[in-house]
Amino acid sequence: MAHPTLACAHCGATNRIPAERFADNPLCGRCKHPVFSGEPIDASEANFRSLVEQSSIPVVVDFWASWCGPCKQFAPVFREAASRWEPKVRMVKVNTESAPALAQRFGIRSIPTLMVFDQGREVKRLSGAMPPSQFDQWLLGTLNQ
Ligand SMILES: [Zn+2]
Repeated sequence: MAHPTLACAHCGATNRIPAERFADNPLCGRCKHPVFSGEPIDASEANFRSLVEQSSIPVVVDFWASWCGPCKQFAPVFREAASRWEPKVRMVKVNTESAPALAQRFGIRSIPTLMVFDQGREVKRLSGAMPPSQFDQWLLGTLNQ
């Protein structure tokens, strides 16, 4: 990954922002909105690369579907975690119904499936919803390994 960037949560433009500036609530060079929103970002097949695979910070991807009950239970856990974990980690959601090519590419067989990407590579994967405390522990273990 030659040029890790951060995609703007508002417009999707890629920004190069050094980690030491994360705490200053950096603004997007294109749209001037904050690059971090504190909320999960919906990824599409079109922006998955810039949003996830070229991200300069680790990204947790939640593969979900509208018909999946455990996904609905986990959604508020994921949303709340995003407000606490950014800018250390970014939370991204992939709707497997609107982005089936991504689900196929990563071999998603059950949902929800959580995948952590760091420097463009998958570093961890887990299937199934979790309560908040367990999700935090899983994330901590993933990031510290
Ligand atoms: Zn922007």
